[in-house]
Parts: sequence; C-alpha cells; structure tokens
Amino acid sequence: MIKRFIAGAVCPRCAKQDTIRMYRDEEREYRECVACDFADSMRLDGQPDHKEEELIQTRVNQGPAVREDGVQVLKFFDATTKH
Ligand SMILES: [Zn+2]
Repeated sequence: MIKRFIAGAVCPRCAKQDTIRMYRDEEREYRECVACDFADSMRLDGQPDHKEEELIQTRVNQGPAVREDGVQVLKFFDATTKH
C-alpha cells in the first residue's frame, strides 16, 4: 500500500499542515493524519458510502413505515384513496 502525503493539505481536526497522507485500494480512497487520529475515506466511483447503504437497508427491513403518532402509513394511504 503506497501512502502519499498531500502537499499543502491541512488536517480538518488538528489544523496542522502537510500531515495528511492518502492511499487507496480498489474501491476507496483514504485520507489520514499522522499528527492526530483523523481518518476519512470516500468511494472512488462516487456511490453512497457503506454507512448510508446500511441505513437504507435497515429502514426497508423494518417493514411499513410508522408515523410519529403510531399510525401505519399504509393505512393512511388507504383512507385517502377512498375519496
Ligand atoms: Zn490531524
């Protein structure tokens, strides 16, 4: 794994300059700071991050959405289409 320092880059956490280095694998590009524990990554293909995908998946697995007052949205739609 080749890690390259980014010339002139400033760490968003400790605000030091030239401490950010980056490396990448097949899917992602990583940035990390050698002066603090800052680390970041982004997908090279621009797709949503794994974290967001997991969030969406969790919502789908929960079944019908429930409104804040506890009424299922499916029932809500049935009532409105009778008009
Ligand atoms: Zn830092």
